Amino acid sequence: MLVVPERLIAGLIGPDEAFDAVAEVFRQTAGGLARNFPVVREALGGGRQYGFKSGLGPDALGVKAGGYFPGNAARGITNHQSVVTLFDPQTGRPEAMIGGNLLTALRTAAAAAVSIEALARPEARVLGILGAGHQAAFQLRAAARVRSFERVIGWNRTPARLAGLAAVATELGLPFEAVPPERLREAEVIVTVTSSTTWTLGIEHVAPGTHLACMGTDTIGKQEVEPRLVARTRVFTDEVAQAATLGEAQHAVAQGLLDPARITPLGAVLAGDAPGRESADQITLYDGTGIGLQDIAVAARVLSLARDRGLAIPVEI
Ligand code: NAD
Repeated sequence: MLVVPERLIAGLIGPDEAFDAVAEVFRQTAGGLARNFPVVREALGGGRQYGFKSGLGPDALGVKAGGYFPGNAARGITNHQSVVTLFDPQTGRPEAMIGGNLLTALRTAAAAAVSIEALARPEARVLGILGAGHQAAFQLRAAARVRSFERVIGWNRTPARLAGLAAVATELGLPFEAVPPERLREAEVIVTVTSSTTWTLGIEHVAPGTHLACMGTDTIGKQEVEPRLVARTRVFTDEVAQAATLGEAQHAVAQGLLDPARITPLGAVLAGDAPGRESADQITLYDGTGIGLQDIAVAARVLSLARDRGLAIPVEI
């Protein structure tokens, strides 16, 4: 078995490769070439979440094990901790174990960027970001790759965290302004990436024609967007079953405001099997729940690059 430790991942893969790998997963799932398995996600108490995301792609089988541990930031380590294990799809033999922390951030940001590229209005110039935790900077970098944004506005419950996001915007040559949620209405694309359990983004905070990439809600009970707003949008997702039960759509579905049959897999849009945005005024919403196939795809890409460069470490198990 080969090991690619967390410390090597940053030198092997970045937003470009992650975008390509994740876009490919959307197409594979739409074409029936890849299958995502049901998520196991358990609350450990104190806000800690632990679970497994797994799936089978055309040439990859794997699982990401790990979770979210909100006390970690205070210890100087990432709140998300995970590892991806890849297996030979024919024999089931363990093939590789790959650090999953940076990969999770890259693939989540890539999925949002794929949705922005497919669904946001081409002329979008203002990017809004709700949430300024670990994941937010990755979202900003990935979003900036797919639209010619001219400025970024953002809000976080703890305003001090916005300084980090502002620094990344500056690095990308984009002016950044900290704004209250009401002013997110100025944005044509809004990425939500908080750990909130009550909604912040209401109907009055979003202008017609906006694309929302909702990435924070990946567990039962989390929530970022008012359910009445979700119900008014055209909803897309990576996995309909997950969106309806543990994604942002869970609340609108539970309240009878949204029929899960109205949620469109984004892969179907990329494959040309379903329409994307239907008018300049339509609000589109990508409910990014995060699927094992995305983790497996970026991990397989890393493994291949590490092998090519002789960096993968062989171990006997
Ligand atoms: P983090 O803990 O580093 O940051 C979360 C931030 O959200 C904190 O700064 C907090 O102050 C802020 N926040 C919480 N409630 C808020 C509210 N109501 N309004 C504004 N800000 C608020 O977490 P992270 O690593 O940045 O991840 C953010 C969220 O994304 C988490 O819920 C995480 O589980 C989720 N996530 C989803 C996926 C996916 O595939 N969909 C992948 C990775 C992370």
